[in-house]
Amino acid sequence: MDRELIEKMKSSKVSFHEADRMPETDSAILARRTAVSGFTGVEFKHITNFSFNTREVTKRNIENMIGAIQVPLGVAGPLHITGEYANGGYYIPLATTEGALVASVNRGCSVITACGGASVRIFKDEMTRAPVFKVKDAKGAKELVDWVNNPANFRRLKEKAETTTKFGKLLSLTTFVAGRNVFIRFSYDTKDAMGMNMVTIATDAAVDLILSETSAELVALSGNMCSDKKPAAINVITGRGKTVSADVVLDRKTILEKLKTTPEKMVDVNYRKNLVGSALSGSLGMNAHAANVASAMFIACGQDAAHAVEASNTMTTLELTDDDLHCSVTLPSLAVGTVGGGTGIGTQKECLQILGAAGAGDPPGANSKKLAEIIAAAVLAGEISLIGALAARHLAKAHSEHGR
Ligand code: NAP
Repeated sequence: MDRELIEKMKSSKVSFHEADRMPETDSAILARRTAVSGFTGVEFKHITNFSFNTREVTKRNIENMIGAIQVPLGVAGPLHITGEYANGGYYIPLATTEGALVASVNRGCSVITACGGASVRIFKDEMTRAPVFKVKDAKGAKELVDWVNNPANFRRLKEKAETTTKFGKLLSLTTFVAGRNVFIRFSYDTKDAMGMNMVTIATDAAVDLILSETSAELVALSGNMCSDKKPAAINVITGRGKTVSADVVLDRKTILEKLKTTPEKMVDVNYRKNLVGSALSGSLGMNAHAANVASAMFIACGQDAAHAVEASNTMTTLELTDDDLHCSVTLPSLAVGTVGGGTGIGTQKECLQILGAAGAGDPPGANSKKLAEIIAAAVLAGEISLIGALAARHLAKAHSEHGR
């Protein structure tokens, strides 16, 4: 151990990242951890335990690494799914510290599977990045918008953007104007990657062409019309990442037996809670707890957990059809991938393997779409179970039975 370096870190004479000068990754991790221990007096017994490859994660996933957090991992299912990419019974990995969540999703899976499984379809698959440009005046804004909307310029921007990636394809550009500000929303097919790094790099290259041919000034590569990791109506309305719907028809008998309630009560809960209550509270999402299931799957499967914000834009519908109950969830903005980001870390990769969706798909994009279909079906399971519990007034009881 480099005692001198640790002492310098402890006295703040050198910064944490300078430990990366050490030849061994693990020595740098130990040096930082020892320094933090010195600063805080905490003796680390848990964050020291992990199995993944430190050289790889420090290269692509984390800076100033000192250890790892462990999150309990549970499994729900099987969940029967009929999608265009996911077909069959799936075991759903959920990493969470919320007791009762896995049990609830498991109950939803059992109800869906007993009623023939969830049907899932993807309607759109586009990751976005929207730089903001400053122009002189309204005339300058119109000139920039006209330049961008010229098909020949679109082709040139597409060519420029795609020089940076083998997989990413620029699909469209949408312009928005607010005074002297022009936003250009770039939409890409990112295949199996969630794509945020990919589209940021590609858009940066395309921006060079805009700057060289127009008088616009780039203010920021992200102008929040993207809109990444923030609640935003644009993602609900136009979609971001995968736009995906999952549905199932539940029969009355199964609802009575497994959820101890009736289709009518569930429709009433959905109407008054998920639709009226969400509208009254100004929610963008109209659902019971879509982000709960999505984020537990995100953490398990190496997704960017902050995209739970966009997953929370889900709309849940429940409708009586004769004597049965049609249940659906539509996730307009599900940002997921099976390559890149945290998907290659050993533990997360194993969870993707449980779903048969690890790594690059054949054809490219097939695996990330499969993951999106499975997440949508699992969100449907979570919605059905929670709405059922509320309708039967079982929610508090279920939580107290699970020890909290
Ligand atoms: P990435 O980790 O940057 O790399 C994905 C790369 O994998 C692609 O760029 C592609 O290389 C390659 N690839 C290999 N097989 C592929 C296939 N079948 N389909 C698609 N790509 C394939 O991943 P990312 O999804 O672009 O970005 C995710 C990361 O971005 C996460 O860590 C997330 O936290 C972070 N993030 C970044 C920003 C940002 O603004 N930069 C914002 C939010 C989140 P080529 O492109 O070279 O062909």
